[in-house]
Amino acid sequence: MIADKKAQANERAKKWYQGHKEYRRAYNKKYREEHKDQLKKFKKRYRDEHKDQINAHNNKHYAEHKDEINARRRETGNVNTLGREYSRIKCKAKQRGIGFNLSLEKLKEIKLSPCAFAEIDGENCAGIITVDRLTNGAYTDNDVIALCHYHNTMKSNMTPQIVEALYKIYLERGILKRGV
Ligand SMILES: [Zn+2]
Repeated sequence: MIADKKAQANERAKKWYQGHKEYRRAYNKKYREEHKDQLKKFKKRYRDEHKDQINAHNNKHYAEHKDEINARRRETGNVNTLGREYSRIKCKAKQRGIGFNLSLEKLKEIKLSPCAFAEIDGENCAGIITVDRLTNGAYTDNDVIALCHYHNTMKSNMTPQIVEALYKIYLERGILKRGV
């Protein structure tokens, strides 16, 4: 009998719940808006207090789903991933005082390109494709190339002047031949 009543009450609650979807949505939205600061504070406090737990959970999740996660990260046709990366590069450039005039289309093209060093040093290519600037100037569509993570690290801080100096030395020593 009591179980019956409980079941009936549950059924009624479920019906109300389903019948008032719009109402609940509007109510929740209004609540969130009115308690924005409070909720923000609460979330921040929760994150701070459970930092280790959250990190452990994230690390465990990553370890268990490594391949899937990395495959998704590589899936650059994904607009969300691309948009996020675009924002990240733009934000970093701003932090470092570097001009930014790169188009989203160019970024997409870069991400789908092979490493620019692949033809000459392909066996060392490793990691995701990154956007690298040819000069130390602003990010523009004309100044960026696709480099794998490995070659980007190798090339970081290489200026055209250094490349020219190295090229000259390599020519003099016969390591490279003119026109190569
Ligand atoms: Zn490479």
